[in-house]
Amino acid sequence: MSALAETYTDSGKLITPENATRPYALGRLKRFLPRAGRAYADTRNSDLGPHQRSNVSTLSPWIRHRLILEEEVIDAVLGHHSLSAADKFVQEVFWRTYFKGWLEHRPQVWQRYCAEVHGLMDALASNSELRQRYEAAIEARSGIDCMDAWTRELIETGYLHNHARMWFASIWIFTLKLPWQLGAQFFLSHLFDGDPASNTLSWRWVAGLHTKGKTYLARASNIEKFTEGRFNPVGQLSGTARPIMEADPGLPIAVHPAERLEAGEPFLLLVTTEDCSPEQLSLPGAPEAVLGVTTAGSDLPMPASAQVRQFAVHSVEDALGRCDAQFGIPSELRETDAWADLLKDRAQELGVKTIVTAYMPVGHVADRLKQATSSLEKDGIRVVQVRRDYDIVAWPHATKGFFALRKKIPHVLDMLKSTT
Ligand SMILES: Cc1cc2nc3c(=O)[nH]c(=O)nc-3n(C[C@H](O)[C@H](O)[C@H](O)COP(=O)(O)OP(=O)(O)OC[C@H]3O[C@@H](n4cnc5c(N)ncnc54)[C@H](O)[C@@H]3O)c2cc1C
Repeated sequence: MSALAETYTDSGKLITPENATRPYALGRLKRFLPRAGRAYADTRNSDLGPHQRSNVSTLSPWIRHRLILEEEVIDAVLGHHSLSAADKFVQEVFWRTYFKGWLEHRPQVWQRYCAEVHGLMDALASNSELRQRYEAAIEARSGIDCMDAWTRELIETGYLHNHARMWFASIWIFTLKLPWQLGAQFFLSHLFDGDPASNTLSWRWVAGLHTKGKTYLARASNIEKFTEGRFNPVGQLSGTARPIMEADPGLPIAVHPAERLEAGEPFLLLVTTEDCSPEQLSLPGAPEAVLGVTTAGSDLPMPASAQVRQFAVHSVEDALGRCDAQFGIPSELRETDAWADLLKDRAQELGVKTIVTAYMPVGHVADRLKQATSSLEKDGIRVVQVRRDYDIVAWPHATKGFFALRKKIPHVLDMLKSTT
């Protein structure tokens, strides 16, 4: 079996919820390593179709849930290639780091996006013209071949190539003239790697909101070239991309300082879809018990698709299995939106006053924990969020454009070496 064929399941799918495990991610990374150097830099921009993904790693769903950590991926790649040969791949991983760090400094951009999605959902209910155009797009009836093919691919496979995501977002905004927030929400619901920072900020980048005034225009010739002729939407795409305007989101704020736990303090360990490597967190001892919680998303404007939810649930299950092996204590997995009651009940049953979890970056899960935290505090239960060294070192460089962080990549990697 070829290295490429190995990554596909019997159903012909590249990513399935059953594969949401750390061993599977490590295997996929290992198979990809030989191609992470110059081969990646030379070929990564081509979208050869859903059955030809050997030019990219397709590791994003595992990285997104931290079944595998960014620094582990980078370490493994730099074990095979020099930094100059793997420069492009390492930079791409740092794009994720950049978006995560940038949004941490501007949580108001996420809050505004969530409010706008809610408003647009109401608009869809009352504005039949908008609703019809939106439904045509998400039901693969836009009339633009490539767009409809990517819509079907996204819904079926939960993955799109980076270039296809850029073209899709550009056509959505500038040709179909649909609100970018609805497109971002559609992606977030269907991508296995759907991530509040990478997704929202990439859509904003295409729309000309991230780098103010600089938009991304999808062109038929570029699509034809990088899909190797699978698509060529000549005459179907807008020839202009005027930036979307919005009120200034304001200055960056300081990221909440890292929290520490006193040695000997008994605690409940909380595992969520934001970080499925809790056994690699820096903890002062073993927890009294481990609780995995995922969200049903009943209160979200557009909940995640069934397969995306399954991937998230399996990711947390896999993490709990590793906690069992490491700590030898009971663990439990719950899917609920009533976090405050669940966390309070478990803490009180155990007689602990502290719940420890990996730091939750800006997004729906952090919003849910924040709500629960204020209610838990009233019962004398505190939540400690432990931040990873990688984020502590990299995020301070993610306040402006990507290039400020890019310059610091060697420094960040050196700092991480000195902390291990
Ligand atoms: C409109 C739009 C929406 C996007 N939404 C998401 C999202 O919800 N979640 C997400 O993880 N990525 C998102 N991306 C970024 C990128 O498309 C994916 O990370 C990448 O395609 C994943 O495939 P891969 O693992 O094969 O990447 P590779 O090319 O193999 O790159 C390795 C890793 O680097 C990171 N990475 C690569 N490119 C980018 C990028 N441009 N931005 C941020 N991180 C990157 C990912 O973690 C990826 O797994 C989006 C991009 C666009 C244009």
